[in-house]
Order: sequence, then C-alpha cells, then structure tokens
Amino acid sequence: MRKVYAVGIGPGDPSQMTAAAARVLREADLIVGYSGYVNLIRPLYPDKEYIETPMRGEVERCRRALEAAGKGCSAAVICSGDAGIYGMAGLLIEMAGETEITVVPGVTAAISGAALLGAPLGHDFAVISLSDLLTPWNKIERRLELAAEADLCMALYNPGSRKRADYLQRACRIILRHASPDTICGMAKNVSREGECISVMSLRELSQEQADMFTTVFIGNSQTRRIGERMVTPRGYRLNGTDE
Ligand code: SAH
Repeated sequence: MRKVYAVGIGPGDPSQMTAAAARVLREADLIVGYSGYVNLIRPLYPDKEYIETPMRGEVERCRRALEAAGKGCSAAVICSGDAGIYGMAGLLIEMAGETEITVVPGVTAAISGAALLGAPLGHDFAVISLSDLLTPWNKIERRLELAAEADLCMALYNPGSRKRADYLQRACRIILRHASPDTICGMAKNVSREGECISVMSLRELSQEQADMFTTVFIGNSQTRRIGERMVTPRGYRLNGTDE
C-alpha cells in the first residue's frame, strides 16, 4: 500500500507552487484532479499517468486515488491553492480507511491575491466562501454579519458564478449593515494565471459589481487605506513611531 498525497498547487503559475508540492508531483505515479488543474500541471510532468474528473467529481477523485494506492501506486490528488482550504484534503482523510494521507500545503488565493493588491490582510481577517452548494445561505449571512460587526478584513471565495450572479451584491448589503460604504475593497481575478487583474474600490462600488468564480474579493477593515492602486490594512504601526 502506497501513500496518497493531497497537494495544493498554488494559484496557477508553477513559480507559486511550493518546492515540496513540486517534489511530490515529480515522484508520484498518478496525478488525479479536476480537468482545469490537470491542464495546468500536465505540461510540467508530461510522463505521469493522469485521471481527470469534471468539476464536483470530488468523491470520484478521492476514490480513484485511494484505489490506485491500494494497487501499489503513489497518487497525488491536486487542488488549486491549498488542499485544505475549500479543497479535498478533508474528504480524502475521511475516505482514507487504512491508507496514509499526507497533506502538502499550498499558497491559497487569499494570500496570492493579497500580495497582488498590496497588503489587504495586514491585520486579523476572516475567510468566507459565498458558495451555498455545501453551506446553507443563512449560515453564510450570519458569518458575514459577525465578521463585519467585528471589523475583520475578509477574503471572500466563490463570490459568484452564472447561477449565483447576485451573491456578491447580497453579501455587500449585509456587510454594509456594519461597515462604512467608503470601506476600501479589492478584487483579484485569475491570480497567477492568464488574464490576471486586480482592482481597488469602495464597498459602495463593490456592491454594484458582479464577480465570477475566478475572483477572490477582499473587504478591508475600518483602517484599510488605498495607496495608489494598492490596498493596505495597517498592522497598527505608526509611520513616524519607533514601536514595532
Ligand atoms: N483551494 C483553493 C480554493 C478553492 S475554492 C485555494 O486555496 O485557493 C475556489 C475559489 O478560490 C474561487 O472561486 C476563487 O474565489 C478562489 N481562487 C482560487 N484560485 C484563484 C486564482 N488563481 N485567482 C483568484 N481567485 C482564486
């Protein structure tokens, strides 16, 4: 029985994959993943065996990897960003039985997107997914409301899709119950992939936007500032002070 790895491949470009993830993929016999991510990885490791499954084929992906491990293969299940953040590491561990699972961390979209925008998450923050496929919407609403009330910065994953076109607007309306419409916000789209772009705007402006499934949205806290095209949440250091 060989191992199964849950591997976070980072946001897209190989330069943002960790050395540990690259090593696991180099050494794996089989790489299993959503076809969109397999397409990103295949050119780097063309000689591997691949199993591609469509979006939402998560259980199938885990089952195929575990089966392969039972036959003596070492298999890597790939996820974008980090494998444990809205990824497949948890499911794989739940389904593993006797198979040993190793989770290899990756650079999640909150981190890679934040770096492009500047430093939007420089203070305490919450990560919230707007997808109600696996979480009831009233729970998502409650989390948004409490995070806004606590003046936390937020990174919003899955902020919209064709079916959920108005979810970002709905989320903004809830956040506006506690946050000023002038709160600085940002969007990071296709981070480290073709079509990469960022934008910085007020919460009022964000509440008129639609976002797609390739975008991560950042909500600042009451201290977040816009500096040119960047978004910065200060840690609280005074620029002219000596205290660190
Ligand atoms: N495991 C992934 C998250 C999967 S959920 C991670 O850790 O990053 C899918 C959501 O992640 C997308 O809807 C989007 O909000 C965000 N995301 C993933 N990759 C992204 C990228 N390259 N650029 C911008 N957002 C991304």
